[in-house]
Amino acid sequence: MHDDNSQKSAKTLFCPKCKGSKLILQKIGETSVHECEKCSGIWLNKGELNALVHPAEGDLEYCSREYIAEDRISEYQCPACANPKLKKVNFIAYSGIVMDYCEKCQGLWLDRGELDAIIAEVDKLEHMPESWDHKIMVFLSKLPF
Ligand SMILES: [Zn+2]
Ligand SMILES: [Zn+2]
Repeated sequence: MHDDNSQKSAKTLFCPKCKGSKLILQKIGETSVHECEKCSGIWLNKGELNALVHPAEGDLEYCSREYIAEDRISEYQCPACANPKLKKVNFIAYSGIVMDYCEKCQGLWLDRGELDAIIAEVDKLEHMPESWDHKIMVFLSKLPF
């Protein structure tokens, strides 16, 4: 009798902040995300941030991960892969919302309340399309290529 893992169970992730605390799958709209039962921080796998705020135009993750927050080195370890250090990045460059980003698996860690702040920010932008264009142009002009 051999052990085959035909019953695929989802990998358990642990909070990078509260050591030993499990991340529980939560549905936000159509998207399932991992939320810490203790601190309510949220881990987003690659693509999930875009899915959550999909009414916005463009790739929000791309716009964010290119902009490393100055002097901000995250003390967190990636909950999803072996990367020992996350990086602090600014959500869409100028928002002032700082997220922790894994360069290896391209996931994002959001502290409690940051997802709400992001959704509020995107909602604001949705109602100010000219401002959005302007800010994206300013952002793009700062990229080093
Ligand atoms: Zn936690
Ligand atoms: Zn990772």
